[in-house]
Amino acid sequence: MKIGIIGGGITGLSTALALQKIGISSVVYEQAKALNEIGAGVWLQPNALKVLDWLGVKDDIVKQGIDLNRIEITNAQLKPYKHMESKVVQNEIGNKTVAIHRARLQNTLYQEVSKTTQVHLDKTYTSHTIKDNKINIQFLNGEDQVDILLGADGINSAVRQNLFPHAGLRNSGLVCWRGVSNYQLPSTYKNHGLEAWGKNIRFGFSSISRDEVYWFSVAKKDHVQKASTVDKREYLSQLFSNFDPIASELISNTNSNAIHQAMLCDLKRLPSWHNEKVCLIGDAAHATTPNMGQGACQGIEDAYYISNLLAQSNLSPSETFHQFQKERRKKVDYIVNTSWQFGKMAHSSIGQPLMKLMMKWTPESVLNSQMNKLYAIEKF
Ligand SMILES: Cc1cc2nc3c(=O)[nH]c(=O)nc-3n(C[C@H](O)[C@H](O)[C@H](O)COP(=O)(O)OP(=O)(O)OC[C@H]3O[C@@H](n4cnc5c(N)ncnc54)[C@H](O)[C@@H]3O)c2cc1C
Repeated sequence: MKIGIIGGGITGLSTALALQKIGISSVVYEQAKALNEIGAGVWLQPNALKVLDWLGVKDDIVKQGIDLNRIEITNAQLKPYKHMESKVVQNEIGNKTVAIHRARLQNTLYQEVSKTTQVHLDKTYTSHTIKDNKINIQFLNGEDQVDILLGADGINSAVRQNLFPHAGLRNSGLVCWRGVSNYQLPSTYKNHGLEAWGKNIRFGFSSISRDEVYWFSVAKKDHVQKASTVDKREYLSQLFSNFDPIASELISNTNSNAIHQAMLCDLKRLPSWHNEKVCLIGDAAHATTPNMGQGACQGIEDAYYISNLLAQSNLSPSETFHQFQKERRKKVDYIVNTSWQFGKMAHSSIGQPLMKLMMKWTPESVLNSQMNKLYAIEKF
């Protein structure tokens, strides 16, 4: 059985690795000529680390990243609304959250995958057809044939466009700028992830290596137009000038061209992720806004579930995909919806004070149990 995976991002590579681990071969087709994740960091939470451990790459990833033993929401002067014990960011077996440069994560997965799996670069999927039980994939430069196709081609998935042409994105009305700064945080923040809230704007950061700090900032979409007329770095430094000076220092230490801007969108809930022989995974199936830092973690969880189901030889592909959707749906729906609400509330003049009160008064035991639900992976 030949399984084709469209997309060599975090989900596609994790899935190829998971299949490899249980003895199923696959082929990855990636549109980029060279793997080049954007210059930003990513926070991998304990659920993702659990899967990465099973895949045999966790230690390598932890070594290249920074353990976060505290993630806090603070005011603009970095005073937390609630002090969190480290238990909140780790699971019952002690996996913490790890912050790492995206390119390092992708490269680690790629190095491991490419030991035994073919990863074809410069292969842009355009469409597929099914004939005589085989899937013929068309690329911009050629074609190939597989038995099963997994679409891991991200939020703007072309595989999804082929399966479900009416699927659409939801625009949150928020814009995010991200960057990586050569900088050393004061030692108090060395193992902290922080997100500081001002009026309608947010600024977050954490170390991702000994001398690199990943930062992100979120604001309403009207800032896109204003920011486009001046130097991005100057615009953002000005926007966050009332925040703790770390914010403007991080921005000023980042080259303007290396500041990545994106509108924050998610995917409108798809009634189904698959047909008989083709299934969507990761952002292609359930892209979320990043407010809970779970998008990539969910793609990594998908890798675990889909590979284990594909290993069950008594199931047809369509039964496998049906079961996959059944096992994954509740959790991803919860994440997509909660993250969406979080973004709305954090940028609303009524919602933000309400959230601060909720954070203050919610007992830590409740937060702990909410986070543990998020970190749990049923089959483990
Ligand atoms: C601002 C921001 C911050 C975030 N922070 C976090 C975080 O801290 N933690 C977290 O867990 N998640 C985070 N996320 C979410 C995370 O980035 C995504 O969920 C994750 O990257 C999805 O991985 P993916 O492999 O499914 O899709 P992608 O990363 O989009 O990868 C898709 C791959 O498919 C390739 N591709 C696309 N089209 C084609 C085609 N036609 N043919 C062949 N190849 C194709 C692309 O080149 C790409 O390599 C964040 C997202 C944003 C926007």
